[in-house]
Parts: sequence; structure tokens; C-alpha cells
Amino acid sequence: MLEIDNLTVAYGKHVALDAVSMAVQPGECVVILGANGAGKSSLLKTVGGVVEPRSGRISHEGTDLATVAAHDRVGRGIALVPEGRGIFPRMSVAENLALGTYPERARAGVAARQAEVFELFPRLAERRRQLAGTMSGGEQQMVAIARALMSNPDILLLDEPSLGLAPIVVKEVFAALARIRSTGLTLVIVEQNVRASLALADRGYLLEAGRVVGQGSSDALQNDPAVQRAFLGGTSEPLDNEIS
Ligand code: ATP
Repeated sequence: MLEIDNLTVAYGKHVALDAVSMAVQPGECVVILGANGAGKSSLLKTVGGVVEPRSGRISHEGTDLATVAAHDRVGRGIALVPEGRGIFPRMSVAENLALGTYPERARAGVAARQAEVFELFPRLAERRRQLAGTMSGGEQQMVAIARALMSNPDILLLDEPSLGLAPIVVKEVFAALARIRSTGLTLVIVEQNVRASLALADRGYLLEAGRVVGQGSSDALQNDPAVQRAFLGGTSEPLDNEIS
């Protein structure tokens, strides 16, 4: 479904991604792990079309995305939930969701999709008229995910959905992602929350300083010393001590 081949991204002289290759199959849930600055957000932004690569190729269902503008990628079924959520704080929850329906692929079956989204996030149904900016951090994350779902995606890219949320809210967000996953939607999640994201994902990649330094099934990554190093500052403490 998504193939990333030798992707290099640079901001001026700073190389954020260095010849990164990875592939995502339909229906898979893939997690991208890495410490701060490893290049995780740059990867998702480049797939979403927000950042242009210096070299390399990203293809979606066989089409080279270099020829597809950012707004047309949503129309192809690629939905990005950015870090910081990117919701419109002065608009209501319902208005934010309606913005998700602008691509042509999303225009049929809006009512049914909204009903599904409200079933997934009952709190958003209760608060549909509330201004999104007055919602809690976790609720805003739900609005951002719900808006992406309204675009009828076939692949959902999530940039640190648990960032800044209390542990109990992180659980709630991951429970919703597990339900989304069970519908067969393809998910790519960038996370620093190793435990929650590996519990959700089929497999993953570990980025270190812009390079893929590890990959494998979630079980294999859980026990990978490089994963422990990335999250435990180079010590050999067990993964149990990592933030969860
Ligand atoms: P975090 O977990 O902190 O969000 P990340 O793994 O998502 O980190 P990126 O945000 O992709 O990492 O950043 C990778 C590197 O590129 C970092 O060193 C960052 O400072 C740099 N970088 C990111 N965006 C820009 C930009 N617009 N201009 C210059 N440098 C940037």
C-alpha cells in the first residue's frame, strides 16, 4: 500500500532522514519508534506532502507521490493526524468533523461515517456543539482522529497521538485506535510510548538520527536492545522503566 524507498529529507544542511526505506501492507498497523529528533515527524510529513523530500521515492498503491500535491493525497485516501492535532479551536466539534469531508471520496455516506465516528468517540457526540479549543487535550486528540476518519481514508498516519496526555487518557486514545485497527484500516503511528504502541502494532521500525536501525515484529522490537537504548538513554535498564 505504501512503499518508501531511499527517502532523504533535509532542512538546509541538517539531514533529518537518511536513505530510509520501509513498506506498509494493507490492513497493517506499523509503529515508527524513535527518540526526540530521530526524524519520525519528518517521515509522516513527507508522506503527507507537507515536507518535500530531497531524494528517494514514496509510492502509494503504485503511484509515485512526487506527482501528487498534499491536498490531493487526502483525496487518495492518505490522512495525516499531525502532532499538535491541527484542529480549529474556534470551530465546534461538528464543524471540525465537517472539514474532514471535503475530499470527493468522503462526500458520499457522510451521515453513516459520522455515526460510526460518534460510536467510536461517544464523548464527541455529546459535545458536538462545543468549541474544539475548549475541549481537554485527550478530547482534542479524538477530534483530530475523528476528522481524519471523516475523510474516508484507507491509510491513517498518526503523529504522537499520546503526546502530552495523562496516562488514563492515553489508554482511552489507544483503545480507540485498537477499535479503528479492527475495522481493517491501515495505520502508521509515530510514538514515543513504546509499550502502548507495540501492544497495538503488528510490527515496527526504529529510527535513530534519521536512519532505520531496527525493524521487526512488535514482540521482537520489545526486546531489542536498540529500542531500549533509544528510550532509556543508553542504559540497559529493562523496558519496564520506560514511560508508559
Ligand atoms: P520529536 O519526537 O521530538 O517530534 P521527531 O523524531 O519527530 O522528533 P523530527 O521532528 O522529524 O523528529 O525532526 C528531525 C530533525 O529535523 C530534528 O533534528 C529537528 O530539529 C529537525 N527539523 C525538523 N523540522 C525542521 C524544520 N522545519 N527546520 C529545520 N530543522 C527541522
